Amino acid sequence: MLLEVRDLHVEFRTRDGVAKAVNGVSYGVGAGETLAVLGESGSGKSVTAQAVMGILDMPPGRITGGQILFQGRDLLTMKEEERRKIRGAGMAMIFQDALSALNPVLSVGDQLGEMFTVHRGMSRKDARKRAVELMDRVRIPGAAQRVRDYPHQFSGGMRQRIMIAMAIALEPALVIADEPTTALDVTVQAQVMDLLAELRREYDMGLVLITHDLGVVADVADRIAVMYAGRIVESAPVHDIYKAPAHPYTRGLLESIPRLDHKGRELYAIQGLPPSLTHVPAGCAFHPRCAMARDVCRTDEPPLYPAGPDRVSACHFWRECLDGLDG
Ligand code: SF4
Ligand code: MG
Repeated sequence: MLLEVRDLHVEFRTRDGVAKAVNGVSYGVGAGETLAVLGESGSGKSVTAQAVMGILDMPPGRITGGQILFQGRDLLTMKEEERRKIRGAGMAMIFQDALSALNPVLSVGDQLGEMFTVHRGMSRKDARKRAVELMDRVRIPGAAQRVRDYPHQFSGGMRQRIMIAMAIALEPALVIADEPTTALDVTVQAQVMDLLAELRREYDMGLVLITHDLGVVADVADRIAVMYAGRIVESAPVHDIYKAPAHPYTRGLLESIPRLDHKGRELYAIQGLPPSLTHVPAGCAFHPRCAMARDVCRTDEPPLYPAGPDRVSACHFWRECLDGLDG
């Protein structure tokens, strides 16, 4: 395993009390693999990623338990200096909003070039050359000229490509992309997603793809981990999930994907809203929104049941869900 998150706990202090943003999350991704982490906003998917990247080490967020193993070593117990090295060259993150993640007063060539002057000790001239190569690699037309332009002079899709170029510049073993295409229109979304998948293959990177949109990850993910209220509720290979979900929440997410063969049919949406993380419902956190909920769901928190050879589900009735008996 390239990255292994084990039983991670993250808390936030808020005016309403302690929010358990991440409550015992475990997941892993190998070299050349793509793990999609799926969930609504507030499910803990971004916070988990921020903990991995080490950009959460400040109040009010606090890691209260667990391990984050990168290439077998726990990032949470190693020296800050070592961790910084890994953060610089071993892993990289792509954010949703490229415009605020890039420096507005530096040309994209200077920003890309900095990766090589700072981390690789290259001359400015060589770094500029590498910047143009990278822009070419992420298919920005006219890279040799556009290298002098500033972030605001690019379209949203092109800016996201620049962010991807920044992320892969040092050929990290792991890339975490947090909603990388959410701000883009559908056609551009697909292009950016294809590019990510292609680079992942080419560099044999591990990719963690965080999204609220199951439709976006279908073609690129190997595995899907579904999060709800700070926990993983289902984790399985992508084709298993598509064949039959083993958790009612996953089923809801699947049914809310627009499909060409269902044209004209009203889109299904999961009723209600995710709970506040300071007041997570007792029993199964999903029970107020679940059409399958029974008495036991209101009192007993479901563990992660093995629901297949390579699959877990946090539903007491995963078998019925899998068999499609939940209507
Ligand atoms: Fe629904 Fe109960 Fe399963 Fe939770 S445990 S998802 S409430 S059926
Ligand atoms: Mg988020």
